[in-house]
Amino acid sequence: MENYKKIIEDIYLEIKNVEDIGKVPNYIPELSKINPDNFGINITTIDRQNFGIGDFNKKFSIQSVSKIFSLALAYKFEGVNLWERVDVEPSGNPFNSLLQLEADKGKPRNPFINAGAIVVCDVLVGHLKNPKEEFLDFCREISNNESLNYSEKIAHSEKISGFRNIALCNFIKSFGNIKNDVDEVLDFYFHICSLEMSCKELSEIALFLADDNFTTHKGNKVLTMSKAKRMNAILLTCGFYDESGEFAFRVGLPGKSGVGGGIVAIHPDKYCIAVWSPKLNIKGNSFKGMLFLEKFTSKTASSIF
Ligand code: GLN
Repeated sequence: MENYKKIIEDIYLEIKNVEDIGKVPNYIPELSKINPDNFGINITTIDRQNFGIGDFNKKFSIQSVSKIFSLALAYKFEGVNLWERVDVEPSGNPFNSLLQLEADKGKPRNPFINAGAIVVCDVLVGHLKNPKEEFLDFCREISNNESLNYSEKIAHSEKISGFRNIALCNFIKSFGNIKNDVDEVLDFYFHICSLEMSCKELSEIALFLADDNFTTHKGNKVLTMSKAKRMNAILLTCGFYDESGEFAFRVGLPGKSGVGGGIVAIHPDKYCIAVWSPKLNIKGNSFKGMLFLEKFTSKTASSIF
């Protein structure tokens, strides 16, 4: 940890002053109100040591990062059958694209683009009696953190401006790959995206993907080792939409971004690291977040390759 700590401090100071060429997104009105200067980092090692710097304790909207947890829960329920509903291929298209779905007959390319995450939400709505509560319980259990919650404000803001997601869900339904009521699926999707966490909470909750022996405080295993390994493979190839190749190339870790400016990256058997900086590059990924992680894995020589 001492080694990571010094390197994180140095890169934090260096990047804090770099000009941020990203932009805070404005398509979800509530998200655009965030102070763009927030910048925090937290690392959690698999022996449960933490180190954070900057705004690492402030909660923010994790947005698409929550697709990790919805996928984990759906994968737990469905096993290999899940891949009949959603594929595991990088899409090469923006996260909210409708383009490929027509040719692919309503089967999304992967669970991390919006189309795929909406299908995963449909799977969960089919399995859970009270999807919103039970999903939150799942997140609280894997993080051992009862304070996790949705932001009703953000969920509402996204609902009233979520025209593309509404279109995606209806479009997929027309192919028969959404089984439940469209409004119920979307309401669930908007809520999971509104989940709030700090960098510290985010790097802690991702540990189930880094630690082969992970069990929750209640003694439950979240995923088998094989399933966790496969999830990391999808995160590496699809976690950053049409910038997944770039992230693997520059950072070299499985990870996931969200339009709230958060990124979590996982080094299996070593650590999880979360970065938050709200300004996004053109692909919808945090500009400083990516820069930080690139420097971090370079200076610590700790990518998976
Ligand atoms: N809630 C956002 C959306 O559906 C999530 C997108 C993201 O974080 N990339 O557009």
